[in-house]
Amino acid sequence: MTSSENSEKETLPKDLSDAADGRCLKDMCGYIDVHCHLTGDEYGDISALIERLEEVGVRKVITAGFDIPSSQRGMYLAEKYPSVYFTAGFHPTELKKYREGDLDIIKSLLSHPKCVALGEIGLDYHYEDTDKPLQHKFFAAQLEMAAKAGLPVEIHSRDCAEDMYNFVKERAELLQNGALLHCYSHSAELALQFLKLGFYFSFGGTSTYKGSKRARKSMLALPVASLLTETDSPYLPPASLYGTFPNTPASIPEITASMAAVKELDENVMKAAVWKNAHTFFKKLNG
Ligand SMILES: [Zn+2]
Repeated sequence: MTSSENSEKETLPKDLSDAADGRCLKDMCGYIDVHCHLTGDEYGDISALIERLEEVGVRKVITAGFDIPSSQRGMYLAEKYPSVYFTAGFHPTELKKYREGDLDIIKSLLSHPKCVALGEIGLDYHYEDTDKPLQHKFFAAQLEMAAKAGLPVEIHSRDCAEDMYNFVKERAELLQNGALLHCYSHSAELALQFLKLGFYFSFGGTSTYKGSKRARKSMLALPVASLLTETDSPYLPPASLYGTFPNTPASIPEITASMAAVKELDENVMKAAVWKNAHTFFKKLNG
């Protein structure tokens, strides 16, 4: 589907259309990275990186936990830097590291004022030794924990489209606080099915590649109000940094501009919309 086939253009709320001439409302002017990993040692001086993000207008970043150390380190960074928030959770490909009691540690992190979601959690069937029943068990348990904590979830979903859809559809009552499919990679048709369940969708560097027809099709099919920007740093650099490492949240302006182009929107409008969506989805960003 091309944009010209996308029959009806959405009518944006007034606060967003005001953003087009740069009269961005003060609290809607920032770029945001809703999913990155700042907890590794890839970046060198993390304080210098945080300063650079301020310079390019990335005002908030959410570093996603994928095991116990990354979730705890996320909390540490969030306490040190005002612009950093974090999520806590056990990623489906990291479950071999699981030790008795780890889910209790995740649970205790969820009550931190800057822990904005439970994640990243989900299903990943990419590797040959995938233990599907184990992944299902931990995904379900963490969805329940998020529901009890009143938090949204950040979901990782790879090579498992149909199972993922059925899994979350059967547990829709656990997703009342919101669910985000990060780095959305399934079809546009399926995106619309997830949308019916109230999902949000974030797109990163790979969506800026000329060849990434699938991500663009999904963005085009989805309403602006369901879209978010992420980098998944240090991975997945955008087109201008192709082949480099590490990627950083400083790539968010490029990703936002690319999303704006796909949606045929002014860049400031896209930026304001994503900022607004993020604060609607992650309630604790407003705290
Ligand atoms: Zn990630």
